[in-house]
Amino acid sequence: MTNLNEYNDVWVFTEIKDHENVNNCALEILGKAREIADQLNQKLVAIVLAYEADKYFSTIKNYGVDKIIFINHIDLKHYHEKIFPELIFNLIKKYQPSIFLFPSTEASSALSARLAYQCQTGLVNNALNLELDKKKNNLLLTDKPAYGGNYSVKIVCPKTRPQMCTITTGTFQKKESKKDNIDLIEEKYNFDKNKLKIKIIGTPTRKDKPSASLSDAKFVIGGGCGIGSKENFEKLYKLADYTDGQVGGTRRPIFNDWMPEHLQIGISGETIKPNLYLAFGISGAIQHVVGITDSETIIAINTDPNASIFRVSDYCVIGDAKEILEGLLKQYENE
Ligand SMILES: Cc1cc2nc3c(=O)[nH]c(=O)nc-3n(C[C@H](O)[C@H](O)[C@H](O)COP(=O)(O)OP(=O)(O)OC[C@H]3O[C@@H](n4cnc5c(N)ncnc54)[C@H](O)[C@@H]3O)c2cc1C
Repeated sequence: MTNLNEYNDVWVFTEIKDHENVNNCALEILGKAREIADQLNQKLVAIVLAYEADKYFSTIKNYGVDKIIFINHIDLKHYHEKIFPELIFNLIKKYQPSIFLFPSTEASSALSARLAYQCQTGLVNNALNLELDKKKNNLLLTDKPAYGGNYSVKIVCPKTRPQMCTITTGTFQKKESKKDNIDLIEEKYNFDKNKLKIKIIGTPTRKDKPSASLSDAKFVIGGGCGIGSKENFEKLYKLADYTDGQVGGTRRPIFNDWMPEHLQIGISGETIKPNLYLAFGISGAIQHVVGITDSETIIAINTDPNASIFRVSDYCVIGDAKEILEGLLKQYENE
């Protein structure tokens, strides 16, 4: 059993998105992590692995961190499934954090799972809330949906460290605060690239990458199974082009290979809060609905008058999503 008293501080993996900016969800987590660190009387530490890491510090410093531990190297420009876990595992061994939080992005989810295995500790994916269990030695108490989202369970990690979890975008609000003296600690990049079996010759560019983050979009066009085909789904992107909207959807279009995974909205995808969510052929399963309820206005189109999505919609359109989509596109084409 780990000596728990030797583990201190709250860490947040402050992921850098596409060598461009600090991941929004990581900034949201820093706000909540600050609260937890204060209650524990411990430090809040941002972990940054990036190329030109210092260019992100001015942003991170606005979110209440006491310390930034960073590694700066060209190999860290994009997430790498061998390099990142090894470097961070070494940091965990050296500094022994008590709590380690990650945004639920593709990269951070993969990273946290590998680290949890290496540390032989527990990992809660997509935690819905974080608090301290005052009755149990201030253990991190996480809320997590279970049994298809029908129940919420509380999970603690009493015997191993760090206590780890991933958190979806939109779960917490960003909270700006500034500390006077922020420690900057640079650690060496010491990954031996001879260990890699795969040589990196380039990084892919994603054609379908949204121009703005789904979680920040003001207008989201949602597609579900009722849209009928990949060909029809493509038309949602066309509507998004005309309207400056962002396309997202349910899990089904991903299984049908109509939509990439990073556009999923819901419990295991993004949480959105647009001014308008326009849902085409979506049933309204709870796993999807939890990700859309912060939308200001919801308009849903469904052929079934009893579809669950109508229970959370402001406007319910009983009709064929394909026909309505065609009609909308025609309007824009004729303009
Ligand atoms: C652990 C777990 C996590 C999950 N996480 C997520 C998640 O994060 N996000 C998510 O979305 N799902 C998630 N799911 C899946 C979720 O349970 C549902 O299966 C999914 O949301 C249903 O997608 P859908 O509404 O597109 O498809 P369906 O449930 O098949 O609904 C299609 C709807 O389209 C309507 N329809 C059919 N034809 C037309 C037409 N021509 N015009 C208009 N309407 C039409 C139908 O009446 C129906 O209501 C998760 C499931 C599990 C078990």
